[in-house]
Parts: sequence; C-alpha cells; structure tokens
Amino acid sequence: MTDPRRQVPRTDAVLSAMTTEVDAHGRDAVKAAIHSAQDQVRAGTIDPNQVISHARAALRTGPRPVINATGVLVHTNLGRASLSTAARTAIQAAAGTTDVEFDLVTGTRRQRGRGTMDALRAAVPAADDAHMVNNNAAALLLCAIVLAGSRDIVVSRGELVEIGDGFRIPDLLRSTGARLRGVGTTNRTTVRDYTDAISSDTGFVLKVHPSNFVVSGFTSTPDVADLAGLGVPLVVDIGSGLLAPHPALPDEPDAATMLRAGASLVTASADKLLGGPQAGLLLGAAALIERLRRHPAARAMRVDKLTLAALEATLRGPRPPVVSALEADLTELGSRADRLAAALSERGIDAVAVSSLAVVGGGGAPGVELPSAAVSLPDSYAQPLRVGMTPVVGRIEQGRCLLDLRSVMESDDDAILNAVLSVD
Ligand SMILES: *Cc1c(COP(=O)(O)O)cnc(C)c1O
Repeated sequence: MTDPRRQVPRTDAVLSAMTTEVDAHGRDAVKAAIHSAQDQVRAGTIDPNQVISHARAALRTGPRPVINATGVLVHTNLGRASLSTAARTAIQAAAGTTDVEFDLVTGTRRQRGRGTMDALRAAVPAADDAHMVNNNAAALLLCAIVLAGSRDIVVSRGELVEIGDGFRIPDLLRSTGARLRGVGTTNRTTVRDYTDAISSDTGFVLKVHPSNFVVSGFTSTPDVADLAGLGVPLVVDIGSGLLAPHPALPDEPDAATMLRAGASLVTASADKLLGGPQAGLLLGAAALIERLRRHPAARAMRVDKLTLAALEATLRGPRPPVVSALEADLTELGSRADRLAAALSERGIDAVAVSSLAVVGGGGAPGVELPSAAVSLPDSYAQPLRVGMTPVVGRIEQGRCLLDLRSVMESDDDAILNAVLSVD
C-alpha cells in the first residue's frame, strides 16, 4: 500500500489544468477549492484523480441552469419564466453603463426606462400609462401606500389569497397601515356588498384574480365592469400577466380586457405568462400612475436596468419560451418524446413515450390541463438527473419519473438525452 499522501496531485499541476476556473473565480478561490479536495484525498474519501472534478464542484456557486421537465410551465422554484434569446441579449447589452435614464441626443436626464414603458403602452393600447416595480407584490404595496394610506381597501372575502411560501395578499396590504375591508363571503359576493362598504374613507376597491385555486359550485362574484364607476379607483390584480386574451386560457384575465371593462389600474407579474423577467406591472389611468410613480416609496421598488432591458426585449421580440410552451403542438411534442424514448431504449434504458398533462403553474390558469407528451423512466432516475452536470427536474407519477416535454425547449432535447445517458 502506498501512502495516500504521496498520491496527492500537486497544487501547481492542478491549477494549470484549471485556467478557465481561475479566470472565472480568481486564483485564491480555485486554490482553496483544490486544497479542500487534496484534504479529501489525504483522508481517503476521494481518489487522487477526482481532485479536479471535486474542486470544480466546490466552485460552482449561484443559481445553476436547470432543465424544467416538470410539465409546470411557470415553476416558481425554478425561477418562473425562462427568458427569450432576445431578452438575454438585451440583458448582456445593458449590463455595462447604458442610457437607461439619459437622452443621448440632448445630453440630459430622461425618464428612467422610457423605452420599456413605450413598449408596454404599445402592447396594451387600453393603458394610458404604465409603471414598473420589482414584482406584483410591490405593485400592490405601492397601490396600498399611495391610494389607501390609512384608509380602507375594499376586497371580496373570496379573494383574500395566499400567493405562496406563506405570503398572503391581505397581510401584505395591512402591513402598509391600510385597513382591509372584506366584503361578501368566501363563495359569493355581490355588487351590493361593495357599494355598502364604500364610504368617504375608502381608498380603492381591489379585485384579486384567484390565480392558484378554483372555487366551484354555488359561487358568484361581480365582473370588473360592475365595479367600475363606483366613485373610487378600481385596482385589478390579474396575477399572471396576460396582456391580451389567450385562446388556450379562456378563463385567465388579461390587462386589455380588464382596462376596457373599466379597471382604473391593472397589476400583474412580468415573469409568469408574459414570459419576462421578475417585475410588477402597473397599467392604467395616467393620473393614478403618475401619483404612484412620484411617491417616495416608488423609489424603494425601482427596477434594475437589466430588468427594464429584458422586459422591453420580451415585449418587442419573438415569442418567449413560456408562450411557445403554451402554444406547442401536441403532435410535435409526441414526436419529440418518441425520438428521445427510442434513442434511450436503443441503449438499453427502460424509456417509453407517454401522453401526459402539463399545467401553467406559478399562479396562473388553475384547473387548466394542457395535453402533453413525456418520456417515462424508472423513478430511480429522478434524483441522479437532478444532481447531474446539467440538472434535469422531472416529476414522479405513479412510480415513474416523467420528463414532460411541454415545459422543455426543443433545443434542450439533446441535453436531456445526454443527461439520461450519463446516469449510471
Ligand atoms: C403571482 C401573484 C401575485 C404575486 O406576484 P409576484 O410577482 O410574485 O409578486 C399576486 N397576485 C396574484 C393574483 C398572483 O397570481
């Protein structure tokens, strides 16, 4: 037996094989990672030839790219919408110093993110004006601070929604000092319930789309049109950020329709069905938008230049991946599943193409099932696929690991094939 200490690769030798990592992380960090891998060799927990791979793994920091094969198109735990190539390019271009609030022709200050606001107004002509904050929760917070202050926000008891991770819209609104005035019942609320509650102490009426659950049976709630013109602003939180109706999601509210029906303001997320970066959209009456924009609290919710660039490119550019996934043709999804399953079976893997049901997820179109196609593997593949070089996240259904292709871009199919083949 040779002493394992004599087999430990020399730091200099390993360093010279890791120049890419040195460029990315700096020499000190790479050295530290090598030293800890060398310690593991000395302790006998890894082989000497594993020093480089362990050092590389230790250097991996930050969110890693993951292939979403869950069949949940907008997966909050996986970073919601995947950005379009156009948006990614725009982020790259805006990463340095940019003209985000500067007019190059006159050499003077200009409204921040003007191009993005123009793109939003062009996408939703029914909106007189637009503003952006960090996310939809911030959009609601800003409405509460500016339009209600310490006064009432009138909202149906059927719309007091928990959005996820324990965060609840009523708690969010109350945290500003506004009073929440719940009206109606869980299943039924009438226009009369709203009019009875409205007084000189009402800041606004809020309508929240129940975006992650469905109430069925003996239910009723007024339409936005019935609540317009009650003498107080009507704020409609549509949630998922559809700017115009989408034929595949007939029950999902959209900004244009809500504004035309009389909403004073619409709030929405930009990283759900709109397919853009994390942001909160505020669309509607110019006078209200101006009040929101000029309030001191708006500054604390200001979006980054990268977000502005990404949203503008999402709005002006080609279909983002979320929309492509929503509109993907079932026959094509089936052929992709067949091709992958055949290539894997050829290598002796128990893989079959199956039909499946995908969902929008992420707080959008609850109850809507999107027919899809998947590659079905033994469930023992699920964990190794998640921890592989290119992590692939599938879902377990009836004891099988399904890789649902509706949430996967076709350009990632080969990466999936290689990921499955690398599982041993
Ligand atoms: C998702 C959602 C929110 C929260 O939006 P964020 O952008 O995550 O802050 C609020 N309201 C509704 C109806 C939603 O669906």
